[in-house]
Amino acid sequence: MSETPSDFYRDFPFDDVLKCVHCGLCLDACPTYRALGVEQESPRGRLYLMRALWEGELEADAAVAAPLARCLDCRGCETACPSGVPYGALLEKTRGAMRRRLPPSRARKLFHDWPLQHVIGAERRLLWLSKLTRRLTRLGLLHSPALRALLPGFLKRALAVMPRFDGRSFKAKHGDKIFAPLSEPATGRRVALFSGCVMDVAETEIHEATLFLLRAAGFEVTVPRAQTCCGALTVHAGLRDAPRRWALQNAHAFSDCALEAVVVNAAGCGAQLKEYADLFRDRDAPVSAVDWHAFGAKVRDLTGLLAQSDLVQRNQWREDPVTLYLDYPCHLIHAQRDHAGLAPLLRALPGVTLVEPDQAATCCGAAGIYNLQQGETADAVLDAKLDDLARACAGQGAGLLLTGNPGCLFQLRHGVAKRGLPLTVMHPAVFLSRRLVSIA
Ligand code: SF4
Ligand code: SF4
Repeated sequence: MSETPSDFYRDFPFDDVLKCVHCGLCLDACPTYRALGVEQESPRGRLYLMRALWEGELEADAAVAAPLARCLDCRGCETACPSGVPYGALLEKTRGAMRRRLPPSRARKLFHDWPLQHVIGAERRLLWLSKLTRRLTRLGLLHSPALRALLPGFLKRALAVMPRFDGRSFKAKHGDKIFAPLSEPATGRRVALFSGCVMDVAETEIHEATLFLLRAAGFEVTVPRAQTCCGALTVHAGLRDAPRRWALQNAHAFSDCALEAVVVNAAGCGAQLKEYADLFRDRDAPVSAVDWHAFGAKVRDLTGLLAQSDLVQRNQWREDPVTLYLDYPCHLIHAQRDHAGLAPLLRALPGVTLVEPDQAATCCGAAGIYNLQQGETADAVLDAKLDDLARACAGQGAGLLLTGNPGCLFQLRHGVAKRGLPLTVMHPAVFLSRRLVSIA
């Protein structure tokens, strides 16, 4: 029997799907449509499916679930859409509704849903995982060809895009301390640094660089110890209860009234923190006293905030020549819409030649853990991006490829190595902190 709006989508307001007028102006912006060339793999095709499910015209089955699962949730279509269709919110709600109709297998519950709800938001488990992974890496076990030969494709792929775990927690090291500005005059402005889940225990040079840069820009900085995962990966999978708990925990952790901003150096996390209000609009959501719009308004991407500061003017920078290639993470450009300051910030530095490849704003195929779940499509999307980077490098030569989202960083690092491109992939915060030679 067909589902109807009152049962299949019973807890979600979904009327926004009616904003789609089927004009097709979003098709060219969609990486899966460009890679697969099929209407069902486009935003318009997926919105048709969502609307038909909502109106009870279509059964929720595996054939309907597949194109919805193959969506990257990159939200390139939102930027392209003149009708203001909130595609990402509709997709995430549909994924949640589909779970009721098509309950996941036991294996998926164990290896997918459980970690997304009980590992990434659990500080001690993450730290243990970080220590274990670091130990295995140092022993040469994780990357041994013999082990790889034994692994299924999914795990091989996971190893290829795995971050470098540090075996320690950034927020445990710095939690609740107040860091004074490093440069004069102090701005009198206080910000808090969001440390996330995996990135709290992996590649912590990014957070150390972020802390350093904020202080060098004259900010007082704090790292609230009680903060937790933003919930983005879990929400993208259609699971909303655990992220709502984490949202409440983060709202409490960052409730210091003197805070001007919650600074985030991971574009996907920043987008999720900004959009917590959406999680609490569902009819089954707990009533919350938090002003989610005010909370979201305080969330700032690091590069956007630095671009509006006088970081460059108040410090001294290396002047040797360097070529930078830019990648704009989807959730910075299409969700947070806070990407415009990055290029001018970098251009203001001495010695920098900045290259914006034609597809700088196109998805790399990482999309959280999409690259582990939808390997073939993720590879096709990544290949298009690498082709574009190869063309740019042919004209400009070797350099650094900067991207401000961890998932993109790992995916592009993997792709660049596979393709042998003359690029080193780096977070903008790490680049800027290495470029700064002295504090004013
Ligand atoms: S999502 Fe927007 S751009 Fe795409 S078909 Fe619908 S109205 Fe047109
Ligand atoms: S979110 Fe990205 S992959 Fe999904 S339909 Fe929109 S543009 Fe295509």
